[in-house]
Amino acid sequence: MFPSKVARAAGSGGSVPVECCQVCGHAPLETVLTLGYMPPVNQMVPVGEVPRQQPWFPTTLLHCEKCELVQLGLAVDPVIIFPPEYPYTSGMTKVLRDNFAELYAESSKMLGLGKNDLIIDIGSNDGTLIGNFQKGGHRILGIEPTDVAKIANERGIPTLQSYFSKEIAGKVKAKYGAAKVITAANCFAHIEDIHAIVEGILEMLAPDGVFISESHYLIGLLDRLQYDTIYHEHLRYYSVGSLAHLLRMHGLDVFHARPIPTHGGSIRVYAARRGTRPVQASVKQMLDAEPRGEAMRKRLAAFRNDVMLSKLRLHALVRDIKEKGGRICGISAPSRASTLVNYVGLDEAIVDYVCEIQGSLKIGKCMPGTLIPVVEESRMFADQPDCAIIFSWHIADELAPKLRAKGYKGMLVTPLPVPRAL
Ligand SMILES: [Zn+2]
Repeated sequence: MFPSKVARAAGSGGSVPVECCQVCGHAPLETVLTLGYMPPVNQMVPVGEVPRQQPWFPTTLLHCEKCELVQLGLAVDPVIIFPPEYPYTSGMTKVLRDNFAELYAESSKMLGLGKNDLIIDIGSNDGTLIGNFQKGGHRILGIEPTDVAKIANERGIPTLQSYFSKEIAGKVKAKYGAAKVITAANCFAHIEDIHAIVEGILEMLAPDGVFISESHYLIGLLDRLQYDTIYHEHLRYYSVGSLAHLLRMHGLDVFHARPIPTHGGSIRVYAARRGTRPVQASVKQMLDAEPRGEAMRKRLAAFRNDVMLSKLRLHALVRDIKEKGGRICGISAPSRASTLVNYVGLDEAIVDYVCEIQGSLKIGKCMPGTLIPVVEESRMFADQPDCAIIFSWHIADELAPKLRAKGYKGMLVTPLPVPRAL
C-alpha cells in the first residue's frame, strides 16, 4: 500500500533524489519546474567570515499524475536544513500570531474542548500556536527539534526537544496519555517519510481525537506565483485533494478544510478517524475548485512560464535603477527570500543589504548563497536607499505603511507575483 522506495535522507549527511511519489509510490514523476541549485536557506554565514565550501542542492518541482501530489525532487538530510541553531521564531510575525489565536478560537468552539484535554503541537517552534491552548486552560505539549525549544520552555511552554517519530509518539503517549487534538502547522509538508509521521500521529491521537494541519496551499502558490516558497524544507506542496488522499491511506477523513492567510495563502485541514465526525460542506467546496488531471498539467505548465517571465521582469526593474546609479536594499529575510535572491541572481553588487527588525537572529549574517549582509532596519531610514525590495512581499500590505510611517521615502517594490512599485 505504501511506497517501497521512499527517499530517506535522514542520516545520509547529504541528499537523496525523490524517484517515486512520496505518498503513493508512483513513478516516474513529471518535472514541473527547475530553479537551479540552491543553498540551504537557514545556514547563514556570519558577515565578514571568509566564504567556505557549502552544499548546493538541485531544486526541481515534480508532479505525481496518480495522486496529484506536487513535491520536491530532492530530500535533504534534516540535520542540514533544520540545524539546531535554526534562526526562525514564529512569534515574530503578526499574521502568524493572529492566525494561531484564530485556530484556537475556531477549533476549541467546533470541537468543544474540555479543560483536561491534551493538545500536542508537532514542530511547535517557540510555542506561539500551542500557547493559545495553554491560555485556554488545556494541557499542552510541544515537540520541537531545534534549540528554539529552549526559548519555548523558558516562556513556560512545556516542550520536548526532539525530531518527531513513531518511537517518540509512543513515549509521549505513555507519559502524557492520548491527545484530543494534534496540530502540525507548517511542518506537515516538511518532514520526510510522511507515512511514518501519520502513523506517529495516530499513535498519540485519542479514538475521538482530531488532527489539524496547516500547510502552504499549492493552488495559492500557483495563483500568486509563489515559486519563492519552493526550497528544501518544503518537500510537499499540498492541495486539499492530495492531502486528503494521503490521510485516507491511514483511515483518516478530512471533515473540514478552509483557506487561511498565512505565508501568502495556506490551508487548514481537520481530519479524524473515519466515521467519527460528519464531513462538512467546506471539503467538497474546496475539492471542486481544485484542478486535477489534464487541467492540473496545463496549470503547472503555465506556472513554469510565468515564473521565468517574472524573473526577467524583475531584472528589467532592477536594471533601470542600477543604470541610474541607484542603491537598493531588501526588506526582511524570510527563508523564501533565499530562493528569490538565488533564482533571480541578486547579489551584494545589486543589493546593498537586507533589513530585519531589531531582535532578529538573522542580523549580522549573510543572505544564503550571497554576501548580502542582513542588518537592523534603522539603517535604511538613516541612509534612504533609492529602492527597497520587499522580500516578505506576501505581507507587503502590513509592512509598507509601517516603513512609510518610520520615514522611508524611496521606492517600495514588491517582487511577486508581478514586480512593481507600490
Ligand atoms: Zn502520488
